[in-house]
Formats: sequence, structure tokens, C-alpha cells
Amino acid sequence: MVNKTILVVLDGLAYETAEQCMGFLHALKEQGVATTYKMQCELPSMSRPLYETILTGVTPALSGIVNNQVARNSNQKSVFSLARDAGLTTAAAAFHWYSELYNCSPYDAVRDRHTQDPEQLIQYGCFYHGEHYADSYLYLDAESLRLRHDPDFLLIHPMNIDNAGHKAGVDSAHYRNTVRNSDSELSKYLPRWIEEGYQILITADHGMNDDKSHGGALAKERDIPFFVIGEQFSHQPSCAPEQTEICGIICALLGIENANKQVTKNLLLEEPLINRQYPHAMAI
Ligand SMILES: [Zn+2]
Repeated sequence: MVNKTILVVLDGLAYETAEQCMGFLHALKEQGVATTYKMQCELPSMSRPLYETILTGVTPALSGIVNNQVARNSNQKSVFSLARDAGLTTAAAAFHWYSELYNCSPYDAVRDRHTQDPEQLIQYGCFYHGEHYADSYLYLDAESLRLRHDPDFLLIHPMNIDNAGHKAGVDSAHYRNTVRNSDSELSKYLPRWIEEGYQILITADHGMNDDKSHGGALAKERDIPFFVIGEQFSHQPSCAPEQTEICGIICALLGIENANKQVTKNLLLEEPLINRQYPHAMAI
């Protein structure tokens, strides 16, 4: 069964700030609609390596995308490639590094900013290249893609939180207010997505430190939130999802069989076929 899925990656969102500042998401939690987990990002705690980890389930050390300057196509199976090969529709409103990882590298803004090509792994894309590109515009881009193309998988990736962290650091009014603004932007769209039955995952690539940067192993840099919304999730607080499992979780939600990606135990109500155990079937 294909469960339409939306993944929101809030770039540079530290766990503690999400806990303090995302009032709407926590309202959904209090209503029993959303569940939050604390997740630790893989290392290095940098954007491009972790975009690849989130979309492929492969750590930076193994994927080879080990810093932000490695600008090439991914050579791993990703949510985008597995979904397209399964005949599903993919879309993304995201920073242009996603276009470089899964569509065309190097990015050519004139050619790639607006992508509409069923042959690409991200078939419908709206990509940006300025780190200050307003979150409000980005959510509009995403909603437009959703309404025009009805994708089975939609990635939404705003950058303003990370940008605020680089300007003012994690412990600053600017950073916290940008997180509050992001929460408010989400509140404009989430009720409709929930009503339409989407499975929704909201997380970050990495956190942010006091030095206005990230990349290392401090808790502020590594601890990130993982919100899940939807009837396919168990909403059990005892689950312990890993960043390397996000890819497998999405593949399972999309009904992609034999994705061969790790899925968090007990996070989903229906375990993917590949993880099911048939202990006695062949032993007789
Ligand atoms: Zn950053």
C-alpha cells in the first residue's frame, strides 16, 4: 500500500530549541496527533553529508559525501531512486544540493531551478541557491508542487534556521525566533496535510553550536528532533529511531518492497515485508 509521505528537513534545527520554541508542533503532540523522538545525527554534523544519510540511510563515511564541497551525484539507492523505480511520483522544494545529489551536478539554476522531468529521480523540483531564501516562499513552492503534481513523496527543506544559527549562534533571540517562525509556517499547512491523510516526518540534518557553526560532535550539534504524524505510525514513545533509518521508514510507508534499508523497530504499525519473520515456514 502506498501511503503518501511528506518529509520536512528543517536545516540546522537543534533538539533543545525545537523543544522550547515549536509551540504548534507540541500542540499536536499534546493532542495525540504527533510524537517526538530525540535523534542523534551522524557525523560530520554537516548539511550535504547528512542530506545523503537521510535520503539513503548510508552514513557519510560510507557514502563518500564527507563534506559540503563533495558536489556530485549520489551513488547510493535513495528514497528518490527507489520510489521512481517503483513507479511512484517524487517531488522536492529544497536547496540546490539535493538537485546535485539526485538529479544533475553541477547545478545550473537556469536549467534546474524548476524541474519537471519524469526521468529524473526528483521528478518535480523547485530548488533555491540563496541560503536566505525565505521559508515562507519555500513552503509555497512545496505546496504548489503538491497541488500540481500530487507526489507520493514530497521533500520540503527550508534553510532559514541554519542561516540564523550561522549569524547569531544557537543561544540567540534571532535563532530562537527563526525556529518559532518556522513552526508558524508549518501551522499554515500541516492541518490540511493531516486532514488529507499524509504520513509526515519532520526532522533536521544537524543542530547548531555557540560558535555559529556545526560539524562536530557536541550535543548541540548532534541532537535533533524527529516528529512523526500519521496513522501508520505506532506513536510508541519507547521507539529509538536513528537518522540512518529515515530512508527505510519512508520506503516502508511508500510500500516499496525489498528496499533493503533499515527500519526502526516498532515505529510503524505495519512492518515492511523484508523485516517480517517467518520462523518456521522453511524449517519443516
Ligand atoms: Zn549550516
